[in-house]
This record gives sequence, C-alpha cells and structure tokens, in this order.
Amino acid sequence: MTTIMNGRLLAEEMQEKLRLKIAQLKEKQLVPGLVVLLVGDDLASQTYVRNKSITAEKLGINSQTIHFPSSITEAALLKEVNKYNHDDRYHGILVQLPLPGHIDEEKVLLAIDPKKDVDGFHPLNMGKLFLGKPETIPCTPYGIMKLLEAYQVKIAGKQAVVIGRSNIVGKPMAQLLLSENATVTIAHSNTHNLTALTSQADILISAVGRADFITRDMVKEQAAVVDVGINRDANGKLTGDVDFEQVAPVTSFITPVPKGVGPMTITMLMEQTVRACQKQEFDK
Ligand code: NDP
Repeated sequence: MTTIMNGRLLAEEMQEKLRLKIAQLKEKQLVPGLVVLLVGDDLASQTYVRNKSITAEKLGINSQTIHFPSSITEAALLKEVNKYNHDDRYHGILVQLPLPGHIDEEKVLLAIDPKKDVDGFHPLNMGKLFLGKPETIPCTPYGIMKLLEAYQVKIAGKQAVVIGRSNIVGKPMAQLLLSENATVTIAHSNTHNLTALTSQADILISAVGRADFITRDMVKEQAAVVDVGINRDANGKLTGDVDFEQVAPVTSFITPVPKGVGPMTITMLMEQTVRACQKQEFDK
C-alpha cells in the first residue's frame, strides 16, 4: 500500500505549533523578525517571496520585504545586508536567489551574519552541517527530513539516491541522509546508467527540475520517493519530477506535487527564524 506524504498537512501542524510559540514570545515582548531582500523582477522569485511573507505574517512574524532594482550594485547590496546584520528587529535575513549576474552570490551569502542566516546557505552553517553539527540547515532538505520522520520512513541502513547536487538541495540532502546512517549516492547530469542506480534505492530523492523525469522502471518496489522538482506542464499546471500516476502504485511512500515538499520548505524557514530569535534574544 502506498502512503502519500502530505507536506501541506504536516506544514499546517508545524505552523500551528510555531504560531503558539510566537504568541508566547510576544508575551515576553519578543517578536521574531525576518527581512527578505529581493533583487530584480524575476516572477518566480517574486512569487516565492510573497508566499514566504504571507506565511510569516499569518504566524505573527514581523516580516519585511525590501525590493531592489536589478541594477543595484554588489557594493550597495552588501551594504544593505550589513545594515540588517545590525538591525535588532530582524533575527533572520534572507537574500532571495538567484541574483543578477553582476552580483557575486557567494560574496552576498558570506556577508550575512551566520546567526541571522535562516536559509542555512552561509559557508559557516554549511560547514557545520557537513561536520555533523548543524545549526541552520537549508530549508528544503530540512523539511524533507521532517517529512520522512513524521511518516516514520526508515533511513538507517537504507540505500538512498539523491538526484541533483546543488548547494541548496542535493548536497545538503545527501549529508542529512548520511547523518541518519543511510548509504548515500548522489547522481547528476554526468551519471551513467541512472536507472541502474535508482532502481536499487530504498529512498529516492529527485531534485532535477524536469517533468516526468522519474519513470516507473527507475523505481524499486516499496521505495520511498520524494519529489523536489517544480515544473510546469504544457497547460501551465504545476508538476514535479516524478511521473506520479505510474510511479506512486509501486512505492511505499511518495510526496505529491503540489502539497509535498514545497509547504515544508517555507515552514522550515519560519521555524529557523523563530529559533534564531530565541537564540539571539536569550543569549544577550
Ligand atoms: P539545479 O538546477 O541547481 O540542480 C539540478 C540538478 O539536477 C543538477 O545537479 C543537475 O546535474 C541534475 N541533473 C540535470 N539533468 C540531469 C540528468 N539528466 N540526470 C541526472 N541529474 C541531472 O536545481 P535545484 O537543486 O535548485 O532545484 C532542483 C529542482 O527542485 C528544481 O525544479 C527546483 O525548482 C526545485 N526546488 C524545489 C523546492 C521546493 O521547495 N519544493 C526548493 C528548491 C528547489 P549537474 O550538477 O551535473 O548539472
């Protein structure tokens, strides 16, 4: 039997707990704050940022989006990041990626105070994650781990294959599975005979960004399949990487798109913002 891992439902449960925690903090005159720096007019980025700010406001987080034109210089953006590093109203700073080509993303991420890096992309936080001492964790793989945990998917001793090696999804995902004692393989566009690998996987995570990329023949019977991909089909409908209709019946667990990984990503951002607030305020 297949269990659909409902990310929306789990996200709602986790957000309700966060809402209560934020209400308790407010009784102590503490309001978690998140500032989002958005550069340029990329429509997908604007949608992501809007969804983040709607969720933050719903939970009682003081959320502010600062929108800069794509012509902003690297130096000016770095100055803005530094300004918010010293602004006590904001416990989290998020720079929405991608940035325009003339701005070095690495430099900007490095400029964020690691304590305020609620996205978990700062090299210090990445380093801690890879040393097995995570503080903030990239939100998408963190949310996937919460989903696997909530549905009691066994990880220790299992064969896991992660397709995709980006810094924000694939690499941290593999590290998190490794830290839970899976045997992990990372696949990418140079991987030969992907099907031979994936069809051995007890846990298969696809973070490629191509509709219907994962077909029935690539999936082991009773595998747990997590679909990270966000794609639009010919009719503009949101789809993942997995051919859900064909693949779902052979799995033990699977995430749908939508209502799978996406809502968990936003929720983990909120969780890390609240955690950053508690840490910064109580460590004072
Ligand atoms: P990237 O484009 O950075 O990474 C895609 C990865 O897929 C690369 O590592 C690439 O390999 C690999 N790949 C491409 N083609 C193949 C192939 N034929 N066989 C095997 N591997 C292949 O994307 P992201 O990691 O940023 O995101 C991946 C997907 O997840 C996207 O659809 C994105 O929209 C979605 N996403 C969803 C989130 C959510 O909350 N649901 C959050 C973040 C992303 P190589 O490195 O060799 O190029």
